[in-house]
Amino acid sequence: MRTNLLALPLPALTEWFAARGDKAFRARQVFAWIHQRGVDDFDAMTDLAKSLRDRLKDEAEVRAPAILSEHRSADGTVKWLFDVGVGNGVETVFIPEDDRGTLCVSSQVGCALDCGFCSTGRQGFNRDLGVAEIVGQLWVANRRLEAMAREGLAYRLEAASVGATPKPVTNVVMMGMGEPLNNFDNVVDAMAVMLDDNAYGLSRRRVTLSTSGVAPLIRKLGDRLPVALALSLHAPDDALRSELMPINRTYPIAEVLAACRDYLAVAPRDFITIEYVLLAGVNDSPAQARALAELLKALPSKVNLIPFNPFPDSGFAKPSVASVAAFRDVLVKAGFVTTVRKTRGDDIDAACGQLAGQVVNRMKPRVVRIGASA
Ligand code: SAH
Ligand code: SF4
Repeated sequence: MRTNLLALPLPALTEWFAARGDKAFRARQVFAWIHQRGVDDFDAMTDLAKSLRDRLKDEAEVRAPAILSEHRSADGTVKWLFDVGVGNGVETVFIPEDDRGTLCVSSQVGCALDCGFCSTGRQGFNRDLGVAEIVGQLWVANRRLEAMAREGLAYRLEAASVGATPKPVTNVVMMGMGEPLNNFDNVVDAMAVMLDDNAYGLSRRRVTLSTSGVAPLIRKLGDRLPVALALSLHAPDDALRSELMPINRTYPIAEVLAACRDYLAVAPRDFITIEYVLLAGVNDSPAQARALAELLKALPSKVNLIPFNPFPDSGFAKPSVASVAAFRDVLVKAGFVTTVRKTRGDDIDAACGQLAGQVVNRMKPRVVRIGASA
């Protein structure tokens, strides 16, 4: 079987070359061809000797997941569905803004954590994505966006040029399908490629990992590869949070916030982003906003409010514009930098929490609670 070079961070690629008697700088050259120039054809790597190219063709490949569909939203957002085998698909979303292009990347096929307000969680879990499947989302997105730019369809590629070679994607958020920390090694390897100056050269501030709060793995991430961190909190107390997010029964709020506080010592930013999905009548009252402010007093943080994005049979409702404003005002008065996330790409179901892809659920069927309120 050929080795998929998209799965290898530079140190592993260097080892792979060394095992074949090839020099480290060759690995660096190939790495740059793949990630900076988006090349998958070894014959196009013109500064390599023909004999090396021939060997690479025999032993290696550059294989990203295939695109099953591509949708462009009226607001410029692009969503891809990628084929990850045997009936499974994962989604990736590109969100263009004036000064950046953000790619929302998936880490798992579905998610096992079963948050009731999340359409990925509702679908259950199939498997972790491999490194090539995670990096491949970025690799394909840059290639497609560059192709769209050539066709005159793109949105401001010149935006914020970062990295050695300017690319459409300037920021990555691990906020697609899945809980990234539960696919720890593959996500860390994939992010290492994103950060590598010989590849995409994104700084640690431009790569954000969003987690539902797997406390010990937040600490482990701090040891291994501290990127910008976002915590999905969604409730100011354990009773409500456990109802909305079953993971809270394992790692309650105090434990998660302590892990976040410790993470700040190594984080590339001096705050943690707190994500808070506003669910009408569930967690969006002014009293809950005050409780949230109290809870976050001791953690340098910025709050990102996300009005719930509906999906069929969710059982939850969008909050009113007035209640979002009132909730934000409480936090602002308490001294928190608070933003309300704009909904992007909702005409193509690309908004937060709407990513569904195609998941062949391998978990037990969900226990449906008859008469459950939410
Ligand atoms: N599993 C990780 C990352 C993926 S979810 C996490 O939970 O943090 C990315 C963000 O979208 C999370 O903050 C999640 O709570 C939020 N989200 C999930 N469903 C949503 C919905 N229906 N509307 C708005 N945001 C949602
Ligand atoms: Fe999983 Fe995050 Fe969705 Fe919860 S919100 S089910 S952790 S993807």
